[in-house]
Amino acid sequence: MTLHHRDVINLCGLLVVVLALALSAPLLQAQAGKVEVLWLGNATFKITTPGGKVIVIDPYLKGNPKTPADYKDFAKLGKVDLILITHGHGDHVGTANRTDGGSDAADLAKLTGAKVFGPAGLIQSLIDIGWLSNEQGVRFGKGGKVQPLGPQITITQVRAEHSSELTVTDPATKKTTTHVGGEPAGFIIQMENGFKLYHMGDTGIFGDMKLIGEYYKPDLILMPIGGHFVMDPQDAAYATKEWLKPKFVIPMHYGTTPVLKGTPQEYVAALGQTTVKVFAINPGDRLEF
Ligand SMILES: [Zn+2]
Repeated sequence: MTLHHRDVINLCGLLVVVLALALSAPLLQAQAGKVEVLWLGNATFKITTPGGKVIVIDPYLKGNPKTPADYKDFAKLGKVDLILITHGHGDHVGTANRTDGGSDAADLAKLTGAKVFGPAGLIQSLIDIGWLSNEQGVRFGKGGKVQPLGPQITITQVRAEHSSELTVTDPATKKTTTHVGGEPAGFIIQMENGFKLYHMGDTGIFGDMKLIGEYYKPDLILMPIGGHFVMDPQDAAYATKEWLKPKFVIPMHYGTTPVLKGTPQEYVAALGQTTVKVFAINPGDRLEF
């Protein structure tokens, strides 16, 4: 089945929580006019826009302990029109847990021919290392708006409170080399129908989330809640209620490793009484909006 936002069960008339257990395979193809969101674990998402464009964000698949086995084969993703990377860490560029010294982002770009957009410093390092060509890697900066999929889809890079080293491991010697990774970022994707999806990247809480909420008015936020490297459930709940005020949230970046111990249940409890719909889904699950 496919889950539509109008199908969720309203618990207590106030808080709507869809637990992953409620979702089951078989999954439908994206229908025209809907935004389809497929979570592949950690911060990795495949987004299909209402017009059928496919965007993969932070591809971390081969070494990702939460990615369903099917998607370790990149061909299973189908066509990919654009790859976005929020920052240089291994669980976002897809170097983590790979023993061959490669990167999922680079491999997916090669396989699909999709351009890779991201923070200027990170993309430059990916080009310098030889993982992306000058044509395929496109640098842009926070506040910048780009339209690589045509004039109906606008992607804005926004602030994230984090760091962004890019560490490469030599597969033979296991020696690591760390490159500059630019500034960490989040992305707001405005779709053909006006729907705005905000992938926050990895971030701690920061006051300009209020500005982002007021100015960009995101409909759906993919929000890190795991703690340690990012917001914990309490921080995320405060930012959601006080500043960002979206219609929908999909919690992410929790449970991938033991230190990312925040849970959607803690996030929902911290939110308390709210009209925000929280979708606590499992890797491999799809939602339509
Ligand atoms: Zn990170």
